[in-house]
Amino acid sequence: MDFDRLDANLARVAVSKVFEGIGVSIEWQPYGHFCPVASGAIAISLSYDTPWNLFQGALAYALPYEGTHIVVFYDRVRESVEPARVPCLLAYVIVHEIAHILQRVTRHSASGIMKAKWDHSDYFDMARKSFHFAEEDVDLIHLGMDWRQSRVTAAGTGPQDHRDGYAPGGRSESVD
Ligand SMILES: [Zn+2]
Repeated sequence: MDFDRLDANLARVAVSKVFEGIGVSIEWQPYGHFCPVASGAIAISLSYDTPWNLFQGALAYALPYEGTHIVVFYDRVRESVEPARVPCLLAYVIVHEIAHILQRVTRHSASGIMKAKWDHSDYFDMARKSFHFAEEDVDLIHLGMDWRQSRVTAAGTGPQDHRDGYAPGGRSESVD
């Protein structure tokens, strides 16, 4: 699975850069390392064999109210774009889901990374590295970070899941 590791490594760098751009630094753990939930860490899993009817059309989901887990449908990410663009798309999918968790609410914005559905011009911006958070999303992320730091153990308040459907080509499902 060397190629997967390469995708993941490139994505990590890109995810860190996006968050650095809004003053948030990410501390990555080694692959396969699971921090205790109490540490405040977020666990990201990649799904390789996603059932077609699981959050149909979505590329990932997170549990913003539970605050700990993200599942990326890596197989669908790979099917969405040509191989060379997989790390970039993977990165923005992870950025979007981390932002949901940090914001602690299930909401989307009219523009930018937190749009419910990405279109071709968004994909174009990703490739040019000019795809950003909307201003309100930056504010919500910082508010959420403050909350997170004041209460590291974010015990879940219920399994209110959140799914995302931003596949290209209009194949995506609407969400929320
Ligand atoms: Zn979303």
